[in-house]
Amino acid sequence: MRDRITPLLSEAQIRDRVQQLGAQLVKDYAGKDLVVVGLLNGVFPFFADLVRAMAMDFDISFMQVSSYGGGLESTGEVHILKDLDRSIQGRHALVVEDIVDTGLTLFKVSNLLKDREPLSLKICTLLDKPSRRKVAVPVDYVGFTIEDHFVVGYGLDLDGKLRNLPYVGIYHP
Ligand code: 5GP
Repeated sequence: MRDRITPLLSEAQIRDRVQQLGAQLVKDYAGKDLVVVGLLNGVFPFFADLVRAMAMDFDISFMQVSSYGGGLESTGEVHILKDLDRSIQGRHALVVEDIVDTGLTLFKVSNLLKDREPLSLKICTLLDKPSRRKVAVPVDYVGFTIEDHFVVGYGLDLDGKLRNLPYVGIYHP
């Protein structure tokens, strides 16, 4: 598996960018009642690093949706596997995601969360693949914009594996 990966983003590159994002978020959300929402599973390393780069107080909650039927392509069908354990009504919500590809997952998750009447709803993603977009979703914070590659590592999986790779690499099938 690992012999089919070429490095794309190093641990140092990721670390530096996550620190920058964290500092930006602290500025933007200073004094606000914030809930940071992690979309499981892929977000876990990015989420852990990002929230620790934010020196301020906020709530953390996780949500898990399924969008991929085990394949490499998004189906556009989103099912809630795990819902938030916090209300976001009247509060600022920041959804944190590993990668925005077609945008279908975030489009559906955003609509679902907007119905819960947050004061604001913004999106932060580690990776963005804009060339693959099928629906327009406003992504407010982007770690890295990448070309149309299938990437693994730092949370991103191949059939459930390779999430523990400490860097992001391109997988060559
Ligand atoms: P979207 O609905 O935007 O097409 O897909 C979002 C989800 O698809 C991501 O949260 C991620 O789980 C998965 N995904 C999209 N692109 C990639 C990729 O290049 N590599 C991996 N491992 N997963 C991806």
